[in-house]
Amino acid sequence: MTFKSGANFDGKRASSGGGGRGGMIATGGGIGSLLLIGLYLLLGGDLGDITESSPQPDQTQVGPEESGEDAFAHCQTAEDGNKYDDCRVMFAAQSVDKVWAQQLPDQAGIEYVEPGRVIFNNTTMSGCGQASGATGPFYCPADESAYFDTAFFDQLRNFGGDNAPLAQMYIVAHEFGHHIQKLEGTLSLSNYNEPGEDSNAVKIELQADCYAGLWAHYADKGEDALLETITEQQVTDAVNTARAVGDDNIQRRSGGEVRPDTWTHGSSEDRAQSFLAGYNSGKMEQCDTLGRGVYKS
Ligand SMILES: [Zn+2]
Repeated sequence: MTFKSGANFDGKRASSGGGGRGGMIATGGGIGSLLLIGLYLLLGGDLGDITESSPQPDQTQVGPEESGEDAFAHCQTAEDGNKYDDCRVMFAAQSVDKVWAQQLPDQAGIEYVEPGRVIFNNTTMSGCGQASGATGPFYCPADESAYFDTAFFDQLRNFGGDNAPLAQMYIVAHEFGHHIQKLEGTLSLSNYNEPGEDSNAVKIELQADCYAGLWAHYADKGEDALLETITEQQVTDAVNTARAVGDDNIQRRSGGEVRPDTWTHGSSEDRAQSFLAGYNSGKMEQCDTLGRGVYKS
């Protein structure tokens, strides 16, 4: 997935940290650590290494002088988005905004309100508590913001190679999927304390994967699309990313027993199929894991 040269990336900026304040742990949270582990294992690593190589949060808060617009002054063109992780996250978020601004009202009759996006390095405060690379990317419902750690993306790059940019966009679209669920009023149904393959936690995660696929369906369409035409190979790579982070795959590859009763994100096959269901149809009703039946066809 590549940004289109000359496409209009507007002046909207992410925050580079600071975030809100609060004490809650994120619910319906990210695919972060799991994704990292999944990708890493996919590439033949083992968990011992990953623990050692995990970034250590340095506890340094990004100061006000570093936050705000200037931190992203280098993110201006498609080429910047294709080159720098933070620009890629910011532009991917703009692409996701663009798709949902049209699709959410059209398909669900709900006005789209853009989530906050915080791109930080190593550690920051969120409305859901302290965030770090160990947390992985996540969505915080309390301040309706998605958080992305560039140190985490450095690791993805090391492990994911050429697929890293695509995995990053998949992550952005997945976390924004949780924001859509917040706007729909369903995100709070997810409870990681009640796991299991048929749990609401899994249904919410699979729907976020499907919403990520739905974004990809529209992201390269129309004259003002921000992405170049998505290739079959890129779709295959995205599906493989989704598959890599399936609970069964992670459990199997980490040498543990596969225990569906402990799942919070869904099986590899279900995650892959969910992404494809959204990608192939572009329809929220194909992502209706909660069986609500409220979407326009
Ligand atoms: Zn998630």
